[in-house]
Amino acid sequence: MIKQIALLLVFACGPLAAQQTVVLAIGGHAGDMEVSAGAALARASRVGAKVVLLHLTLGENGHPRKSAADYASQKRAEAIAAAAALGAEARFGTWTDASLRPGKETEEFVAQVISDVKATHIVTHWKHSIHPDHEAAYVIANHAALLAAVGGWKGVRSIVYAENWEDPEAFQPYLYVDTSDDMEAWRRSVQCYEFLRGGVSAFPYLQFYEGLSMVRGAQARKKHATAFDIDPMGKRRVLPIWP
Ligand SMILES: [Zn+2]
Repeated sequence: MIKQIALLLVFACGPLAAQQTVVLAIGGHAGDMEVSAGAALARASRVGAKVVLLHLTLGENGHPRKSAADYASQKRAEAIAAAAALGAEARFGTWTDASLRPGKETEEFVAQVISDVKATHIVTHWKHSIHPDHEAAYVIANHAALLAAVGGWKGVRSIVYAENWEDPEAFQPYLYVDTSDDMEAWRRSVQCYEFLRGGVSAFPYLQFYEGLSMVRGAQARKKHATAFDIDPMGKRRVLPIWP
């Protein structure tokens, strides 16, 4: 508790005092950001940040027994409940599953959301994925941040990439967030989705991401952690002397 209060005071008294931290998570499908980054988003919300999840599509095509229209309605309701469990707000794009592409329409839409919510931090998919919607979300999010800046919102301070089982190629865990106290909120959130509870996909989402949080936690010397990558250019360090 004291640690949380101290952290809040840092937020209140430090350079962030003038601008509230707003984390915008941009996912290709409803559920992507919750499973991969949800624990870290819950932590951000818990220490005072505003957290918004933007689902560019509902990911409505994957159900073996339900129509896309029925599953879309279900996933929208699941996404709203999953966001609430993280202390976050859910927003939605208008695109259909498997049809998300970079371009003026998608990028201007996301730029408007970035400006509207006054995003200071963005998390989205890594650049390489087995799913084209995820790769599209990466491009759209980066172009949209630039468009938002050109349009007047220059408050985005970082863009990081979540660790997703479908986006593994060349992903390197670089930043680690201690999520030891946030796994319960994460479980409550992701279990709002039927695809997490089984019967929709054979992939063991809950076990994979719970196990991954323990692997990343061990690497970070914590019980649980969520890892993110950043753009390679951001890893360049310039030193005044020989290291
Ligand atoms: Zn997805």
